[in-house]
Amino acid sequence: MVTPMAAEKTVGLVLITPTQRRNNWYVRKRLELIDQFGGKCQECGDSNDLEFAHVKPTDVVGLGRGRNRRVLDVLKNPTHYRLLCHPCHKSYDARDARSEMIELVSPQREG
Ligand SMILES: [Zn+2]
Repeated sequence: MVTPMAAEKTVGLVLITPTQRRNNWYVRKRLELIDQFGGKCQECGDSNDLEFAHVKPTDVVGLGRGRNRRVLDVLKNPTHYRLLCHPCHKSYDARDARSEMIELVSPQREG
């Protein structure tokens, strides 16, 4: 007798393209890194929609744009990143943008 569970465990081999193989690598590495970073958002503790947020601005680090390159960069420089959920990442980046804007518009007063 075949139970539904046993049927779901049957996995065949499929032919994948190089792109799919890279994506597969990315998915596995990303999960490993998420585990390494504690598996949850470092701001609010949420474990959904996790992303790697640059501690330093992307322009300074110069790497990490594009998800495969970001995974590579997180592997090389784990201290440059924080694990955040999507909403916290958005407000984290917005906070960076705001502080830059304040610097740019703050008037230089003399005397
Ligand atoms: Zn969060």
